[in-house]
Amino acid sequence: MRLRNIKGSREIIADSDYVVHEETLQKGKWHSLFGNDAPIYVEIGMGKGQFLMALAKANPRKNFVGIEKYSSVLLRAIEKQQEEALPNLKFIRMDAEYITDVFGPGEAAGIYLNFSDPWPKDRHAKRRLTSRQFLKRYEQILAEDGIVQFKTDNQALFAFSLEELKEGGWTLLCCTKDLHQDKILCEGNIMTEYEERFSSMGNPICMMRMKPAETAVSLKEKSDEK
Ligand code: SAM
Repeated sequence: MRLRNIKGSREIIADSDYVVHEETLQKGKWHSLFGNDAPIYVEIGMGKGQFLMALAKANPRKNFVGIEKYSSVLLRAIEKQQEEALPNLKFIRMDAEYITDVFGPGEAAGIYLNFSDPWPKDRHAKRRLTSRQFLKRYEQILAEDGIVQFKTDNQALFAFSLEELKEGGWTLLCCTKDLHQDKILCEGNIMTEYEERFSSMGNPICMMRMKPAETAVSLKEKSDEK
């Protein structure tokens, strides 16, 4: 992403009602923040928010939270949300490494990872959003039947992710290396900005859905039963 240093972006974000700020960020309180009990879906690394905004518009009875690390990128999502004013969509500017500080056990009904940065060097593997380190974080916040959906055109990152989910004891629910040619899995697919870009270049899009063996919620239920 190029837009790293737009002047004033931090100030605009600080003033935006669509962004959940540190003072109001309280894990375990997301439903009261949205003012309803509807499930909450999270996109990590949402970029300019094209995918999440379309999803939130199409699903007014669900809540959505977009996480983005860079202010200047998040700013673009805020600008679109100022026009749309979708009540079921909020943003956070943060590094997803700290996601368990923000969401409590079971608060995320699902997690979307779209065209996550590949971090090609081996020594950076733990920064990949599908690394075992990140999968552990997702286990802490996913609801009992919560899943992670991952899309990418990067074959190496996709292969790495399949290995990591096995290593972490996750279950692969479905998987394709050419989503746009798969009539069943592509049904209802919402294209992300990067998906449009890469598929127009002829790159096949890979997609997988996966779920953890245990979540923090299911582990707690088991220990309460004893
Ligand atoms: N998901 C969008 C799409 O598919 O069009 C954007 C994809 S872009 C390649 C990846 C985005 O993830 C960038 O905006 C980047 O800043 C963000 N990102 C990468 N690592 C992140 C992290 N650890 N926490 C939050 N955002 C992150």
